[in-house]
Amino acid sequence: GPAPEADAEARAWLKKHAAGFGHFINGAFVKSADDGHFETMEPATDARLARVAQGSAADIDAAVKAARAAQARWARLSGHARARHLYALARAVQRHGRLLAVIEALDNGKPIRETRDIDIPLVARHFYHHAGWAQLQETEFADQVPVGVVGQVIPWNFPLLMLAWKVAPALALGNTVVLKPAEYTPLSALLFAEIAADAGLPAGVFNVVTGDGGTGAALVAHPDVDKIAFTGSSEVGKIIREKTAGSGKSLTLELGGKSPFIVFDDADIDSAIEGVVDAIWFNQGQVCCAGSRLLLQEGIADTFLARLKRRMGSLRVGQPLDKAIDMGAIVAPVQLERIKSLVATGVAEGADLFQPKMTLPENGCFYPPTLLANVQSAATVMREEIFGPVLVAMTFRTPDEAVMLANNTRYGLAASIWSETIGLALDIAPKLQAGVVWINATNLFDAGVGFGGYRESGYGREGGREGAHEYLKPAAWAKRKPRAAA
Ligand code: NAD
Repeated sequence: GPAPEADAEARAWLKKHAAGFGHFINGAFVKSADDGHFETMEPATDARLARVAQGSAADIDAAVKAARAAQARWARLSGHARARHLYALARAVQRHGRLLAVIEALDNGKPIRETRDIDIPLVARHFYHHAGWAQLQETEFADQVPVGVVGQVIPWNFPLLMLAWKVAPALALGNTVVLKPAEYTPLSALLFAEIAADAGLPAGVFNVVTGDGGTGAALVAHPDVDKIAFTGSSEVGKIIREKTAGSGKSLTLELGGKSPFIVFDDADIDSAIEGVVDAIWFNQGQVCCAGSRLLLQEGIADTFLARLKRRMGSLRVGQPLDKAIDMGAIVAPVQLERIKSLVATGVAEGADLFQPKMTLPENGCFYPPTLLANVQSAATVMREEIFGPVLVAMTFRTPDEAVMLANNTRYGLAASIWSETIGLALDIAPKLQAGVVWINATNLFDAGVGFGGYRESGYGREGGREGAHEYLKPAAWAKRKPRAAA
């Protein structure tokens, strides 16, 4: 259909900030100390979207000071009082859900259908869930206290959802936050800050400093930050691990993945095909736990690939605000170039390339759903995270071989098993070295379940009880309540 009109409410909000967005520090928007700024683009049209402050060490310092000043008071609130704030944030996200969904789609390029039906509801759910932990803090975590001031650095693939995963547990358990959103997608964090202040969140409890990797590095280096929580690439994760070593800061890392999607001969093929679509073409494949390695048992491999190719032909790639599309734009030109270059490498190393015939929009960062079949274990595209809509496929003979191939990766974030023999699936699941294993399903997330990786996918968990522990530390001995005699 025709490109839809940009949503009026979103355009009005951008217009209100046409002079440029400041950092959100101590409850208000402020300019960069050195007046630095950058532009965020709309990847689906190449148009300029907004001017945003570029944070320096001075801005980070101002935000950390505000967070430090607010922390003791925030932590002294009763669990119920903090829970009320989290409920208010959850309701505010729902009330402004449409605006948040459109801003996210414009800034990131992802389909409005996904931001509206998946990202925003999961964000609200995360705040509702963690309001519960705030209420339980005094009973469940009686011997623990908040970590303090937390620096959080997040990626661009789920800007608001990654914010929620980090901010909700931190605030629920009495910490205050300085958040550094990704440079490609700073807008939803700024909108959230505005909404949170309107919803009565006290000044200084949640601060946003926008900018690039240098801004993130300044946050990591700041001496008065007690903990760093990072989601992003394994490369930057390693740098942050080195930089925080010996600093006394605690650290959690949620990094990349190359997750296997294993289909046995007896799988329900129709469901498994839809599973693949969800695993690798949801969010244009820019998903840390994307099922990017398709492992097919030999008996069904040919049929499966033939049907998958037909299904790929029916995916619609187009403007994010068009509710009828399945895939939007890749987040930025450099990411698009990276995907193209990895696909070229895959072909050069012997893979069979399939892309359905389709017309992509003329401008913007678009890439078709892509399959690389007959890929060898040692091939670059089988080992490297592509972080785009590119599926690599190979075959296996036995369950043992499937396990061996699935674990043949330096990552360990997620895995998906498809079989109608539940005994087989349950036998395989614990042998897979992955933080989450789905059976006849993929990409299911719940605020109550810890999410995180093994090996180079990072360490620490987000969500549920395990995630709550990441934002607590043991109370000093003198502060502990005496235990009842056993
Ligand atoms: P990235 O590592 O390039 O950037 C992530 C964030 O780190 C950005 O905000 C960036 O500005 C900042 N940054 C860059 N250099 C820094 C430095 N030296 N010090 C501090 N901060 C720095 O990653 P990306 O390209 O934005 O995101 C894609 C990656 O994130 C993929 O590898 C993906 O798998 C991973 N990811 C993981 C999860 C998870 O939960 N495991 C979730 C989403 C994305």
